[in-house]
Amino acid sequence: DLRLARISSAIRVIRDFPKPGILFQDITTLLLDTKAFKDTIDLFVERYKDKEISVVAGVEARGFIFGPPIALAIGAKFVPLRKPKKLPGKVISEEYSLEYGTDKIEMHVGAVEAGERALIIDDLIATGGTLGAAIRLLERVGVHVVECACVIELPELKGRERLGEKPLFVLVSGE
Ligand code: 5GP
Repeated sequence: DLRLARISSAIRVIRDFPKPGILFQDITTLLLDTKAFKDTIDLFVERYKDKEISVVAGVEARGFIFGPPIALAIGAKFVPLRKPKKLPGKVISEEYSLEYGTDKIEMHVGAVEAGERALIIDDLIATGGTLGAAIRLLERVGVHVVECACVIELPELKGRERLGEKPLFVLVSGE
């Protein structure tokens, strides 16, 4: 698909951000390219429009950029999965491990119902810790996670292995 090459070249790579030694994949330049941004959303919509998905769950922060246009186009609701202490209502949370320490993501109680079919979306999968926690969070409340989707995968970090059997769909590969 020719659209993928354009998407890939619209992503800027920044060395030593946010720390020395990290090659950061910057998707803000993809958002500036109106054709590449639209192609990104269209590719996800084409894949998910006939899969009876009722929930698009987006991971803070950049899952909030790609998730809502997909949700609107496929007729699903959008549920934000947030960093701790951001959501005002009653939440359930799920912890995951980082290189040093742990982090958590949270979801509002009542945002989804048991038996719903969800797509989880984020901009990028690195170690897979974040998406793994998102899957567990939704499955704990009886939601069927159909698939996880990201714009970018860093394959060397083997994040897919932390998702168990859950399918992961990505558009492009980062180095
Ligand atoms: P993981 O939990 O898979 O190790 O890390 C994925 C999370 O970290 C995602 O929410 C993603 O937004 C963020 N992240 C890690 N590295 C990068 C990067 O190079 N670029 C961007 N845009 N996000 C990153």
